[in-house]
Amino acid sequence: MLNSGSSSVKYRLLDMAVAERDPGRARLASGVVERIGEEGGAADHAEALRRVAEELAARGLGLDSPALAAVGHRVVHGGTRFTAPTPVTDEVLAAIEELVPLAPLHNPANITGIRVARALRPDLPQVAVFDTAFHATIPEAAARYAIDAATADRFGIRRYGFHGTSHAHVSRATAALLGKEPAEVNVIVLHLGNGASASAVRGGVCVDTSMGLTPLEGLVMGTRSGDVDPAVVFHLERVGGLGTDEIDDLLNKRSGLLGLCGANDMREIDRRMAEGDASARLAFDVYAHRLRRYIGAFTAVLGRVDALAFTAGVGENSAAVRAAALDGLEGLGYVLDPVRNAVRSSAARLVSGAGSRTAVAVVPTDEELEIARDTYALARTRTEPEDRR
Ligand code: ADP
Repeated sequence: MLNSGSSSVKYRLLDMAVAERDPGRARLASGVVERIGEEGGAADHAEALRRVAEELAARGLGLDSPALAAVGHRVVHGGTRFTAPTPVTDEVLAAIEELVPLAPLHNPANITGIRVARALRPDLPQVAVFDTAFHATIPEAAARYAIDAATADRFGIRRYGFHGTSHAHVSRATAALLGKEPAEVNVIVLHLGNGASASAVRGGVCVDTSMGLTPLEGLVMGTRSGDVDPAVVFHLERVGGLGTDEIDDLLNKRSGLLGLCGANDMREIDRRMAEGDASARLAFDVYAHRLRRYIGAFTAVLGRVDALAFTAGVGENSAAVRAAALDGLEGLGYVLDPVRNAVRSSAARLVSGAGSRTAVAVVPTDEELEIARDTYALARTRTEPEDRR
């Protein structure tokens, strides 16, 4: 699978026969080509993908291999049109292109990745897997913003949600950890990486998420503000004299943890808090307060919560963030076991305490595996004759 970002291309080659039995052993190769367009990096996405092909060939896993079944591509924005993984055709590519205004930072790079991969292997099925797709089931009451409906419709303004492959993977893995089917459980997933988002999943179906029209809304992130009063934007324009692009840059790249304390890595914030740094403490407290607000809100959205799962870099590794996120929420049914919470492990595990009504879990995410699975499932049904399905 290929994840073509604005300045990097990440790739992973998986043996899907192994992935179905033992996902941990399915990886044949993986890597990243970084600094595209910068000095010393690949000149453009075409060259980056050629380097990916070379790296694979050097390990005897060339792109020309007949064993290669399909290429899956991460695509950030699928709008309202793409609600499931989709085989790439010229028409699909044109539709992804039409969505560029909704995701100007992401979709263009995704499109380039697809184009170059198709040119390298025109015979292979290429599948687009959308970050927004898992959230397509969110009911209108949660997806609509309360603004003039005609204006919203004209400009496609609604909640789309992102990190969908992660929320899908983790909500299912959490059900499995409880020994249940996804349809039997209600789960809150907290994806806390550099970007961060929460989702409410009822019986395997996503019913709410914290990110919105773009990945800017919701939780406090590494460099993104998450929720702010939209009037902050007018105020910065009218009183601060800032332009639209400057405000975009401020809220997406210079806010969040970075904006509050100058660091966006939770490990550094931990270290500085231990040394008594007040701005690091404040950044941590704002981050944790926002998390508690969303946990409370999504507990109300679901009514009954069977499990709450922490995932991604911060969620999987920071016992302090998990403890702060659930601090004082015993009345809502969330109790952590401090000893279990402090254990470092890369396995999916329960960290809730004896009196917890809700199972609290740490569940590693794997967006690449999820994309590969979606891709393989689609490529297989399309290439096998009807009677072998
Ligand atoms: P991305 O959104 O880029 O995929 P990740 O899910 O890899 O991000 O998460 C990256 C973040 O995880 C880092 O910014 C860092 O703050 C955090 N992180 C990684 N390891 C730890 C750790 N041991 N303790 C606390 N935070 C960690």
